[in-house]
Amino acid sequence: MARYTGPSCKLCRREGTKLYLKGERCLSDKCAFNRRTAAPGQHGAAKKKLAEYGMQLREKQKAKRYYGVLEKQFRSYYEKADNQEGIAGENLLRLLERRLDNVVYRMGLASSHKEARQLVLHGHFTLNGKKANIPSMLVRVGDVVAVKETDSTKIKELVEAMGEKIAPKWLEIDKNGSAKVIAMPERDDIDFEFNEQLIIELYSK
Ligand code: SF4
Repeated sequence: MARYTGPSCKLCRREGTKLYLKGERCLSDKCAFNRRTAAPGQHGAAKKKLAEYGMQLREKQKAKRYYGVLEKQFRSYYEKADNQEGIAGENLLRLLERRLDNVVYRMGLASSHKEARQLVLHGHFTLNGKKANIPSMLVRVGDVVAVKETDSTKIKELVEAMGEKIAPKWLEIDKNGSAKVIAMPERDDIDFEFNEQLIIELYSK
């Protein structure tokens, strides 16, 4: 399964915003973006005014990187979103939010999407009682995501710390390590700044 393995902090500098890719570190003084906001590269510090295409491209890259999705899969989400009823941009974000790794992140069991993805890949979760180890699985209303019974101290600690993060209202959290999807995620539930319309404009060219 392909994934980005390069330096995470460079991505934040490239997008000009904190993408919270490194968990606790992102909230600490060690965050590289707090110290240096210029884009990476020799001319990173030069002020560049982006053309329309540049703005659309950056917005798409930002969303991809925030959710940890590569280009091919991201485009397939766009195609799916565009074929659904309603506003394509909101459909796109809704699809990304419904990913199993994102649900684990929103449950407060992981400090970053990357960590959530790893927990899923390592088989720590069930979806409606069945093994679920594919990060891109999409949840539906009524689904229950739960931590598998385990002897792992790390997982037990994560479950104990679950309550420290506020979950979105589309998830009903059980502090014993599970969450029920009680609604589809709405645009207002996403607490990260995206201009999804720019992404749609880019792909619809
Ligand atoms: Fe981005 Fe986190 Fe690195 Fe800060 S610590 S630059 S938020 S990945």
